[in-house]
Amino acid sequence: MDYLSSPIQYIKGVGPKKSESLNKLGIKSIKDLLYYFPRSYEDRRTIKKIADCRNNEKVNLKVFVCEKPIIVKYMRKKNFIKVPVNDDTGFAYLIFYNQDYLLNVFKKGDLLYINGTVKFYGAQIQLHNCTFEKSCSKNKIGLILPKYRLTDKLKNSDIVNIVRNVINNYSDLIIDYLPEEIRSKLKLISLKEAIINIHFPKDKNIFLQARRRLVFDELFILQLGLLVIKARNIQKKGIIFNKSTVVHRVINNLPFKLTNAQKKVLSEIFRDMESVTPMNRLLQGDVGSGKTIIALLSIIKCVESGYQAVMMAPTEILARQHYNSFVEIFSKYGISCELLVGSISKKRKNEIVEIIKNGKCNVVVGTHSLIQDNVKFFNLGLTITDEQHRFGVRQRSSLISKGNNPDVLVMTATPIPRTLSLILYGDLDISIIDEMPPGRKNIKTYVVDKSKKDRVYKFLIEQIKKGRQAYIVCPLVEESEPVDIISATETYYHLKNGILNEFKLGLLHGKMRPNDKDDIMEKFINREIDVLISTTVIEVGVNVPNSNIIIIQNAERFGLAQLHQLRGRVGRGIHQSYCILINEGNNKVANQRMKAIESTNDGFKISEMDLKLRGPGEIIGTKQHGLPDLKIANLLRDISILKEAQYISSFIIKNEYLNNNKEYIHIKEKLIDTFKENIGSTILN
Ligand code: ADP
Ligand code: MG
Repeated sequence: MDYLSSPIQYIKGVGPKKSESLNKLGIKSIKDLLYYFPRSYEDRRTIKKIADCRNNEKVNLKVFVCEKPIIVKYMRKKNFIKVPVNDDTGFAYLIFYNQDYLLNVFKKGDLLYINGTVKFYGAQIQLHNCTFEKSCSKNKIGLILPKYRLTDKLKNSDIVNIVRNVINNYSDLIIDYLPEEIRSKLKLISLKEAIINIHFPKDKNIFLQARRRLVFDELFILQLGLLVIKARNIQKKGIIFNKSTVVHRVINNLPFKLTNAQKKVLSEIFRDMESVTPMNRLLQGDVGSGKTIIALLSIIKCVESGYQAVMMAPTEILARQHYNSFVEIFSKYGISCELLVGSISKKRKNEIVEIIKNGKCNVVVGTHSLIQDNVKFFNLGLTITDEQHRFGVRQRSSLISKGNNPDVLVMTATPIPRTLSLILYGDLDISIIDEMPPGRKNIKTYVVDKSKKDRVYKFLIEQIKKGRQAYIVCPLVEESEPVDIISATETYYHLKNGILNEFKLGLLHGKMRPNDKDDIMEKFINREIDVLISTTVIEVGVNVPNSNIIIIQNAERFGLAQLHQLRGRVGRGIHQSYCILINEGNNKVANQRMKAIESTNDGFKISEMDLKLRGPGEIIGTKQHGLPDLKIANLLRDISILKEAQYISSFIIKNEYLNNNKEYIHIKEKLIDTFKENIGSTILN
């Protein structure tokens, strides 16, 4: 594919200007252009008769110019051209605005192929927004026309012409990297055919085949790449941690018994830790399933063997919360722990960095601050990332690089179906906590409209009077563009001076100074605050078991997964918990989301519904995971192709074809090409 890597401006008809515009679309090379797939298509194959036209319909017509075109003036200085045309069924006008030069282009008797939108104008049939061709050269009409995502200076027809040119001249250079064996097994068409037909499909059947081939390619390469990384990892020599003794003492002293699911994942993790291969494990479990204690026990096991452990969380609030709950237990067993977050003073930070480096501290909990260059460990044995979906692969790997093949545990509450886990976390082994701690009462969820607000607050007051605490969540901090959004600050003052004036309220949002945030959280945990009015900063991980009611204002503005996460802030203690969604909009999809939340507490079900409502792109975008972008595959719709890709990739890895089979050499190149930016180095050597 080498020549295809040449810059796009070398193509005939692409000057410096067009190539600049193409660059803006991410098209730098000929290959980029070939892989710039149409966003949609317009079927311009069937030609209609004028008599069959319906108002507002987009049609293709074959007509003759039957009179000289005329120019019509409107609004003082503006003109449009009216071209009278007919076919054997009727009569119509083509309308062209601001294109006076067309007056001399059309001659009586000309044959025209037209694509345009029908407008009934009184008794007249007019065609607006017309594209025309004087002969049926099949450039614009009589074909399935690809529609591309455009930029300022490029018209769709520009891209169509360039693509056509490239395909005509260079498509023979497209090498199929897939061995014939795989292609025939899966009945996939060749890469060349696929690329030609994704741009210019002759019919639906060939389009579907082209798409299937290209979707397969994307998913296959992604999956295979991840498996290659995983296979490499297995060859690494990691730390063999000792069998634990302290851990069992800690477990016996916990105020609760581990659930069977927790025991199961713990044994999976410990088995990994005790083996020579570095652990690379994803721990999945719905909100509130008890992942933190698993992290804590793994950390203790690590420290028991004389190594340091680190845990990274996405927010300071969460890091601090973990730190506090860890220290409570660690202190009983002589384990030292430090908190490293952005808000602590520079002096203190330097001190902490120093003792981490000297090995004087066993455990560090923190935020992104942990991955800064100056943070070096004495002997890092275990890295844990909490709420992994908030981090990318890159951040995860910078943390890992601070140790010498440390064991790695990543935790996430985003429950996704297994096939999807395999592609997003394909380089990891997966453990799932599929059981909630006992005694949890189901959170009761209600969707209400604005008019019920007073009743909702009355209910909240009753709960506070019983000694409970509450969250009120608002979508945005300061009043901004959509004026109707209630800001947290405004709500806070409104309630403080109004209906909740006899209670202690706290305000928490992302723009507050970190110390103030901690202060508020601290007070909430210590019950010095009854009601915490906050933005979504409390979304991840916050654990205050005494709070049993969460009211979400403008709930229609939140995504399904987000609502589920927010709801997860309650239902963490022994009290019956409530989640009240105030629906202040009237949007169909938003209403469906809220119905979904109301109907179940099961995170897996919710994520499946979320997939259906929003499509997987937004929820589990590969980019967000630091993986190559998916241009054509749709992780929800293409699940059967994904399964094929997963099957073939593990087959290749199992048989070590990439190293042993000549036919597979091009696959290796493709992998390097795809993964270069992120994880390519592992594949390269
Ligand atoms: P998440 O999985 O969302 O991170 P947490 O680890 O914060 O959940 O746990 C939620 C709450 O459940 C915490 O208060 C924790 O102490 C408690 N918990 C964890 N495991 C158990 C268990 N086996 N039995 C009872 N409570 C538990
Ligand atoms: Mg958690």
